[in-house]
Amino acid sequence: MIDFRSDTVTQPSPEMRHAMAQALVGDDVYGDDPTVNALEAFACDKLCFEAALFTSSGTQANLLALMSHCERGEEYICGQQAHNYKYEAGGAAVLGSIQPQPIDNAADGSLPLGAIEAAIKADDFHFARTRLVSLENTIGGKVLSLDYQAQVAALCQARGLKLHLDGARVFNAAVALGVDIKLIAKHYDSMSVCLSKGLGAPIGSLLMGDSAFIAKARRLRKMLGGGMRQAGIIAAAAHIALDKMPERLHFDHDNAQLLAERLRAIPALEVTTTPTNILYARCRRDRAQELKAFLQNRGILINAGAPIRFVTHLGITSQDVETLAAAIADFYRCH
Ligand SMILES: *Cc1c(COP(=O)(O)O)cnc(C)c1O
Repeated sequence: MIDFRSDTVTQPSPEMRHAMAQALVGDDVYGDDPTVNALEAFACDKLCFEAALFTSSGTQANLLALMSHCERGEEYICGQQAHNYKYEAGGAAVLGSIQPQPIDNAADGSLPLGAIEAAIKADDFHFARTRLVSLENTIGGKVLSLDYQAQVAALCQARGLKLHLDGARVFNAAVALGVDIKLIAKHYDSMSVCLSKGLGAPIGSLLMGDSAFIAKARRLRKMLGGGMRQAGIIAAAAHIALDKMPERLHFDHDNAQLLAERLRAIPALEVTTTPTNILYARCRRDRAQELKAFLQNRGILINAGAPIRFVTHLGITSQDVETLAAAIADFYRCH
């Protein structure tokens, strides 16, 4: 099957599988796993943070960040579209007693500075204490500019708030901006990164921050059942993902542009691109379910939303893009 549903469907490379088979391992809850320790040290170096923590998922990394920055009855400001508000089952509220304060994302995915400012609560016992702002980059494939991130960081500093980045796809943002990842990372007190999306690891995310923050997150990870034993087996693949895979993400971005070009030739579709590996197409008449079934019969998987979201990744070649575009053109010819 050619799978455009998500970059989470990527398969580990032969090099990753080999590294997993050969990995030196120990009990990571004791701090004894040399492969996990090497991954965390490598991440600190690559992203310029004091400390890092290997987690089972991006959801866990974000939850640990929110629970480490905020105590019960405190709040974080985030976007209505933020993954760590909308798509993580309300974990911060359920497990951390932390109140989200969502605000509308602008069309470019950013949180307008004035809206952040207006959402910060005064020190008054009627209110939850505002502790944190959480941004997401990329967000729905859109990229936040370096200038914008610097402005939010300055605002947080001025108002005594911490700043977290949900950087599940932050390497896609760095590639689209053409900058070293450190130039994004430097604006944040903490950051999560998914290794199991476009970077191709089978499992795992990282949370980074200063040493005291990561020590707190490590304790919470244990509490949440995320302390893993011989985790080097998966950290070995994650290390290759972090080291070698960012440099190939531009292929995925190029394939998304190629797909956009092809789909724009189909009048029944309204195409919206992003600078990264995600694009959207709205069916002018709602035929997404029919289209999905038609494509599945031809060995192609899509998510039929409104709009349809197509994601390119290391399992997708430019030939696969041509195959998809031709199949969609066929669908609209005969329907
Ligand atoms: C996928 C994703 C996550 C969560 O990662 P999981 O590993 O699926 O839990 C968090 N934030 C964003 C922006 C994501 O895209």
